[in-house]
Amino acid sequence: MSRASSSGSERGWRITGPGGAQSIPPTSVPLVPPEVAAQVPDIGDLSARLRFCPKDGRIWLDDQRMLLIHVAALANLRRELVSALGTPAARALLTRMGYESGVKDAELARRVRPNDDRLAFFVGPQLHALEGAVHVEPVRVEADPETGHFYGEFIWHSSCEVDAHMAAFGLSAEPVCWMQLGYATGYTTAFMHRPILYREVECRAAGSRRCRIVGKPVPEWDDPGQDLLYLQSGEFAALMKDTPVPVTALGALGEGERPPPGLVGISSGFLAAYQLLLKVARTNATVLFLGETGVGKEMFARTLHGLSSRADGPFVAVNCAAIPENLIEAELFGVERGAFTGAVASRPGRFERAQGGTIFLDEIGTLNLAAQGKLLRVLQEREVERVGGTETRKVDVRVVAATNVDLRAETQRGAFREDLFFRLNVFPVRIPPLRERREDIPLLVRHFLLKFSERHGRPVTAVTDRAMDRLVDYAFPGNVRELENLVERAVILAPDCGAPIDLGHLFANGEEVHAPFFGLGGDGTLIDGGKPPPEPPAGTGAVIDEILSRELPLEDLETMVIDAAVERAGGNLAEAARMLGLTRPQLAYRYRKGRG
Ligand SMILES: [Zn+2]
Repeated sequence: MSRASSSGSERGWRITGPGGAQSIPPTSVPLVPPEVAAQVPDIGDLSARLRFCPKDGRIWLDDQRMLLIHVAALANLRRELVSALGTPAARALLTRMGYESGVKDAELARRVRPNDDRLAFFVGPQLHALEGAVHVEPVRVEADPETGHFYGEFIWHSSCEVDAHMAAFGLSAEPVCWMQLGYATGYTTAFMHRPILYREVECRAAGSRRCRIVGKPVPEWDDPGQDLLYLQSGEFAALMKDTPVPVTALGALGEGERPPPGLVGISSGFLAAYQLLLKVARTNATVLFLGETGVGKEMFARTLHGLSSRADGPFVAVNCAAIPENLIEAELFGVERGAFTGAVASRPGRFERAQGGTIFLDEIGTLNLAAQGKLLRVLQEREVERVGGTETRKVDVRVVAATNVDLRAETQRGAFREDLFFRLNVFPVRIPPLRERREDIPLLVRHFLLKFSERHGRPVTAVTDRAMDRLVDYAFPGNVRELENLVERAVILAPDCGAPIDLGHLFANGEEVHAPFFGLGGDGTLIDGGKPPPEPPAGTGAVIDEILSRELPLEDLETMVIDAAVERAGGNLAEAARMLGLTRPQLAYRYRKGRG
């Protein structure tokens, strides 16, 4: 074990986010300070060791032969392991498979970054991402190879094991990232030369926003016995089928539980939200939808209403941010004549109009404190009082709210009533942003294509492969709503002949479609894909062959093309310039130059 080195740390090292591990804000703030993040090299030194050799059917990571497998196949293997062996034994097998990978990658870490333990340690999280398992966000890492002290806490985003588990079993009652946990345990144990055990304290498959793992030396854990059983093959027999099953799968979606039209998705993130919706729909509980703008919160709310016993009653949607602050109370709770200037007649508010049904309060975080107080009263007393009135009216309305802000943080800064927050937050359902559920993009595209080709009477039924590829890579800052808008615009822009939608029809408004992917270079190494090169128009190859075979000087060629354009434009230089992608002065200059 080499000493913790260079940067002056005599007794181990520590990397921690602001405020340490206990005060992680619920929003996705980068938790490792920029100066520390800057020290960790990008994955260039790792990706350079990954080589694809399709000619002899091998993939190499340094000196290890690797294998690309389908997550769908992993899901199937998982299902069969669980049904043949029981959950504990299946978990043990997968845990040890991950453990072995972690140990192998720890060997690589020392070779790649031999001079600094801190930087070497991050090889594990970075390889785990490069290998496609999970994106790892370090929260706090402390290590002292001398004393053996270790504490590691990480957030996992887009765990492939969550996807595999959800595909096989649906939402789980307990964390499911067994193989990845084995990897973290194996990696850190090999790296530290001491048994370091990780536990998954939150898991997306169990309804959390993301997975979170904590690693410590075995003696520092309470009751590590069961965890160790998963790691020891000698104890394998003890885990066979008749032992109690600690993981309760709630089951994948059965028939009749499929999302109704309007809600579209097969991704684990979508299905997790949908299953929560199914569970709560039949009750009268207040539901709070959380998620970025455009993720489809109203669609979820409408679906909830449709699945509830109130489905025959009204569904009243109110966007609290769209109503002027001085009118919101009258709008929600109604107004009596003469309550204020302009209140010329008494009228019921949205709550009264939602009688027997559901009211959906979108962007609830924008309500002012006075309206919040009144809303709290409605939730507590089940009655409303119109503005300027004294009579109370009983209302039987289910309240469903949505927000794209962190209401808990709003309560801390006094902008949102804490008592109201607790009333609303009875059953929060987080709807993931589209970039976390990319598997759903092709389904959503087909869904919107049908919708808009019918609405606009356009014969468009397909999208080219390259356009679909780009859609799947695109970041979608505006989420599902942005995708819907892109498809609608493309349906209108697409040619009348019924040809498929192509890139130019979709990204016509300057969307930044740089895709964060790597491609394979000619020598089998990964290269930064960056912006994919523009595709030459069909038939370009033949034109170029023709030109080269005639050995035409480039200048003559330019003159010929310019002359042809001017001729086709009937001498109109502005139009000829458009054909050639030039400005009129540029064309005029070259045109004159061409004639000597
Ligand atoms: Zn997990």
